[in-house]
Amino acid sequence: MIKKINLLDEYTVNKIAAGEVVERPSSVVKELIENSIDANSSKITIEIQDGGKNFIRITDNGHGIPSEEVEKSFLRHATSKISKIDDLYSLNSLGFRGEALASIASVSKIDLITKTNNERIGTKICLEGGNIINKEPIGSSVGTTIIVKDLFFNTPARKKFLKSSTAETISITDMINKLAIGNYSIQFKYINNNKIMLTTPGDNSLQNAIRSIYGKNIANNLIPISINSEHLNITGFIGNNSIYRNNKTLQHVYVNKRYVKSKLILNAIYEAYKGIIPINKHAICFLNLEINPKKIDVNIHPTKLEIKFEDEQYIFNLIKNEINKSLLNSTLIPEYQRQN
Ligand code: ADP
Ligand code: MG
Repeated sequence: MIKKINLLDEYTVNKIAAGEVVERPSSVVKELIENSIDANSSKITIEIQDGGKNFIRITDNGHGIPSEEVEKSFLRHATSKISKIDDLYSLNSLGFRGEALASIASVSKIDLITKTNNERIGTKICLEGGNIINKEPIGSSVGTTIIVKDLFFNTPARKKFLKSSTAETISITDMINKLAIGNYSIQFKYINNNKIMLTTPGDNSLQNAIRSIYGKNIANNLIPISINSEHLNITGFIGNNSIYRNNKTLQHVYVNKRYVKSKLILNAIYEAYKGIIPINKHAICFLNLEINPKKIDVNIHPTKLEIKFEDEQYIFNLIKNEINKSLLNSTLIPEYQRQN
């Protein structure tokens, strides 16, 4: 028997999409922080409990959402950041797909409080599984607070796959560290189970952000990087030969302020350190790439962690050669110098 073709309803579509965007609590934290960054916040506070499974609260002092648009922000494909596909070529926001709030809301219980500069009073909206259950005026300062409770309460299969609170907390902490380093002009505060884990100065100094997150041993062993080429500028810091790691968790790469996981760039960095740190060890790096948005595609995956470059070979060679040059030109620590 041939089955009839159904057009899926909004509720079903959102739950399916949530499977891609909201994999675990740290994906919620990433999307919400990115929204706060896009709202021009200068201060973002993140509070979690029990690995974010039952409670995540993000508070920002950004521009807020006008009361009449609050419902709309939870609709799929509703975004204030682009209006046509060409806008992707001059994108200067982290979001553009308009699906994070819809996806998160469809698999959790949400309270959102927001107020813009032009409003006398704020707005509170509550949703459960994507359905609006209440909207009311509320006193609030300018900015947005969003509380996400009971993640995956209505998708038990997904809930079962969550790791222990400790493992989920590690993933959240790592995501916050990456976003705080990438946005060092913003003050981040991170509270886990009522304990302050992190505050960054937000004083527009990358090195100060690195010091507040990873400590002075790392901050004191960095080599500044400044690479200018026709299509690409790279600034930031790389570790000298005394501070390598067994894994890649301290490799930070940002493209136009977006934290990305780029195998291409990490491989180029690995090649650049060959002979300088032991094989199978991983360098520490904090690199900001500035590239013409026309030369990249940020829309290859819903989580936007991957990115595609127009000229991969050029980028690979540039990074490998220039980082290697910077390493060889810097004073490496003799006791760690390798004999090969
Ligand atoms: P996107 O970020 O891709 O636009 P989202 O679903 O994450 O999509 O958010 C939808 C819209 O809600 C945003 O475009 C923005 O207008 C608004 N919004 C969400 N979070 C915030 C925030 N923290 N401050 C101000 N506006 C926000
Ligand atoms: Mg967003």
